Amino acid sequence: MKRKFICAGCGTTIQTEDKKKPGYTPPQALQREVVICQRCFRLKHYNELQDVPVEKTDFTNQLHEIGKKNALVVKIVDVFDFEGSWIPGFQRFIGKNDVLILANKIDLLPKSTKQHKIKLWIKKQAVEHGIAVKDVLLMSAEKNIGIKDAAKAIDMYRAGQDVYITGCTNVGKSTFINQLILNFGGDENQLLTTSHFPGTTLDLVDLPLDDGRHMYDTPGIYNEKQVAHFLHPIELKEITPTKEIKPRVYQLNERQTIFIGGIVRVDFVKGSPHSFVFYVDNDLRLHRTKLEKADQLYEKHKGELLSPPSKKTLAQIPPFVKHSFTIKKGKTDVVIHGLGWMAVTEPGVHVVIHAPRGVGVSIREAII
Ligand code: GDP
Repeated sequence: MKRKFICAGCGTTIQTEDKKKPGYTPPQALQREVVICQRCFRLKHYNELQDVPVEKTDFTNQLHEIGKKNALVVKIVDVFDFEGSWIPGFQRFIGKNDVLILANKIDLLPKSTKQHKIKLWIKKQAVEHGIAVKDVLLMSAEKNIGIKDAAKAIDMYRAGQDVYITGCTNVGKSTFINQLILNFGGDENQLLTTSHFPGTTLDLVDLPLDDGRHMYDTPGIYNEKQVAHFLHPIELKEITPTKEIKPRVYQLNERQTIFIGGIVRVDFVKGSPHSFVFYVDNDLRLHRTKLEKADQLYEKHKGELLSPPSKKTLAQIPPFVKHSFTIKKGKTDVVIHGLGWMAVTEPGVHVVIHAPRGVGVSIREAII
């Protein structure tokens, strides 16, 4: 293969030699007008994810390059999974460059959510991570909400410089770039690949801007704490909301337990009778029981009544570990990264969360 091809889907370098390595394409596919790798082809046409290794370290190296450039850094985060979509060590990558945060998937939050409160909350979080952001904008890349404002802000803050679009896997970076192309001209065949699966964008994709500058789509950074990495892609679909979340309120007494599918268990250990509000995918079943019976119930119904994970994938899930919290202030969210959160509305509540080892669980000031 003499000419160098870049996959129009994910930007990785195309190769025709090794099926198991990134960028593989059958030689005959190079004759096509638009060349995409087999992984993107399968993803696009069959919604199927090939098990091609993704080298995580190279990606962080590429991010380090950003600090050496003069550019605007756009960071896309997922409002539904803020903690899981924050690039670890992000402040180290950006150098002196300005940062604009685009908070995506705003369509998932209940309509009653106060947008200015979310923006302030995100700004505060960024400061706690050591970054003073230029601005925070809310958008839904998929529903085409806020895209034009985001584009305007990018153009203003970049002040004639290049732009780097950064984000963790699955935040909707490719969807956003596709929307930019759709909204601001471009060839439909050149759209980047998007999917339900984390890690679709493998290499730098470069989009020329009208003043000769460039917008670079950097590879999605893998945040290991996301629950997504432990589930089969089909089950990931089951826990990933696609519609506005309807909060589910449970009035609980102490020593009651709620199972979120079979993936997380919430024990209300101590406190006065209290309402807990769950913000998870609407189709994910919540099951209430007494704390005393929870172990037994789990053993009997895991993989069936208590799913996902299903019986098939149960063995791949790491064992549960416990996270214990005593809520000191009223209106606190207990967040299970990638799955959603539970709002506790009064102080003095002691909860224990059982989640697969490796999945991030934390508390924060309530965002809704
Ligand atoms: P990337 O890995 O950051 O490039 O993410 P993708 O663009 O491939 O999107 C990951 C998943 O998030 C896909 O299933 C998208 O359909 C979904 N997604 C992207 N943007 C939005 C959005 O605004 N709202 C919702 N609900 N889902 C979105």
